Amino acid sequence: MARDFDAIIIGAGQAGPALAGRLTGAGMTVALVERKLFGGTCVNTGCMPTKTLVASAYAAHLARRGAEYGVVLDGPVRIDMAKVKARADTVSLNARTNVEKWLRGMKGCTVLQGAARFEAPDVVSVGEERLRAPRIFINVGGRAFVPDLPGIDRTPYLTNTSMLALDQLPEHLIVIGGSYLGLEFAQMYHRFGARVTVVEQSPRLVMREDEEVSAAIQEILEAEGVAVRTGAKCIRLAPHEAGVAVGVDCTSGGPEIVGSHLLLAVGRRPNTHDLGLDKAGVETDARGYIRVDDELATNVPGIWALGDCNGRGAFTHTSYNDFEIVAANLLDGGARRVSQRIPTYGLFIDPPLGRAGMTETEARASGRKLLIGKRMMTRVGRAVEKGETKGFMKVVVDAETSRILGAAILGLNGDEAVHGILDMMYADQPYTTLQQAVQIHPTVSELIPTMLGEMKPA
Ligand SMILES: Cc1cc2nc3c(=O)[nH]c(=O)nc-3n(C[C@H](O)[C@H](O)[C@H](O)COP(=O)(O)OP(=O)(O)OC[C@H]3O[C@@H](n4cnc5c(N)ncnc54)[C@H](O)[C@@H]3O)c2cc1C
Repeated sequence: MARDFDAIIIGAGQAGPALAGRLTGAGMTVALVERKLFGGTCVNTGCMPTKTLVASAYAAHLARRGAEYGVVLDGPVRIDMAKVKARADTVSLNARTNVEKWLRGMKGCTVLQGAARFEAPDVVSVGEERLRAPRIFINVGGRAFVPDLPGIDRTPYLTNTSMLALDQLPEHLIVIGGSYLGLEFAQMYHRFGARVTVVEQSPRLVMREDEEVSAAIQEILEAEGVAVRTGAKCIRLAPHEAGVAVGVDCTSGGPEIVGSHLLLAVGRRPNTHDLGLDKAGVETDARGYIRVDDELATNVPGIWALGDCNGRGAFTHTSYNDFEIVAANLLDGGARRVSQRIPTYGLFIDPPLGRAGMTETEARASGRKLLIGKRMMTRVGRAVEKGETKGFMKVVVDAETSRILGAAILGLNGDEAVHGILDMMYADQPYTTLQQAVQIHPTVSELIPTMLGEMKPA
């Protein structure tokens, strides 16, 4: 016998709980199934703990630079890793507890703990229980991808999840993967006092970004003492008495790096392999991402997929936006689409990178006539005053329509300042509107209008 509900939600990540709130608010009965930790990746092993650690690393960095600001610390800066970890654990625990409490207290919502599997297009099992509903929402997220590198089966390694369980400082951390997650861990652990080497297969870090952004990021990390090995071909692993040995064929440097710990940060995979999707007839692509249309419906009527598992986004804000799209279209008669979303994200090294829309490379490839503005952070008063002048800001505009196509702000508060540009893109206004806006002095944002006024044809 199956228990009947109006809706089943699989996964309490970034979309599921909010959707449960809207559906129950509309009078539906909802079963929400979570197999592990409420709040999912972001709360437990992603954004929240890592950004809490980044904050500790920033505090350490600033403390070491204290003398530059006239702040005298008697003695060297020391890091209490157990306390650093405890702080991150507390932030995650509080958020996790709040999500769980909210769901368990939600009228009309039945919370089940266990792994959900499809038995039929409208039936899901959780252990011995059978649940049935005409609407099923999949929000199962993803996990760290472990590549099939030679030696991986006999070499100890860490992922983002096990890395967060460390309460000791690695002597030498080797990070395989020079992209968003890997670089955040690399810089923070270096600031905590570890030796760090980043190994990246591509010819440069964060390949998705423009070359000058990658180069500036590498410069920032190397200036702090993080070793970067790009163009690493034939990566192979082996246990070593000191921990691990990573064999590489790089454009520069020796053929072997020996470290105490190894972090794999080479991408994510969706948690769709053990969902019984075949029993429901839900289609996935070759990597396991659930195929969805522009409104996040799967090929099976009555089944939607939200968040990282649909391959249409890989961020907390995209997962939450998936919830907004589905809720608006189902409950409010809306016509919201994923394709209305402008790509935007941050890279939370210090200084951070805030990105919106196209890169310059993408804009050039589109064949449009462009205007490009760029300003170094050394020419931003707020950055000078704070003694944090690394990086630059850049904006790309369509010369014919005057619409902003994209921006990158790598520098102090770049993750916040980029929103002024992003919002202008959503408003679909010409760049001159922002160029003429008066912004607060002294901020990073106040130089965006100046930059727009100094753009050059490209
Ligand atoms: C180290 C790291 C740092 C990150 N930093 C950022 C950042 O700064 N900003 C940002 O926007 N994004 C960041 N992300 C990405 C972000 O965490 C994810 O994009 C986001 O959590 C995806 O949310 P989701 O709702 O798709 O799924 P998740 O948050 O992954 O939640 C899915 C949930 O489903 C549950 N589940 C899975 N299978 C089943 C099943 N069969 N039955 C029941 N439950 C199941 C899981 O246990 C999990 O709780 C980071 C990720 C990592 C790994």
